Amino acid sequence: MATQVLSRKQRGEQIQPQDIEQINPETFWVKSQSGRGGYSVTLFRGKWTCDCADFKFRQIECKHIHAVLQQTSQEPNWLYLLGLWEAPL
Ligand SMILES: [Zn+2]
Repeated sequence: MATQVLSRKQRGEQIQPQDIEQINPETFWVKSQSGRGGYSVTLFRGKWTCDCADFKFRQIECKHIHAVLQQTSQEPNWLYLLGLWEAPL
């Protein structure tokens, strides 16, 4: 029987906005979908990082990063305000 494997993007879409908390302009806390705890997703020098195992081992955007990106794309203004978006050199 074929198993439906969701992409990381799709899994990120399953994370609810209320499970994402903005700690500071560059750090978000994403509640774990599988139980207690959570992961911090940080924008560091223009790159998103996460402290979950998926990101650590694979160095690709995990579902938490996707979730934060989806969340923040609904309000793109804060990136502009911070100068992180198309920041002039
Ligand atoms: Zn992650």
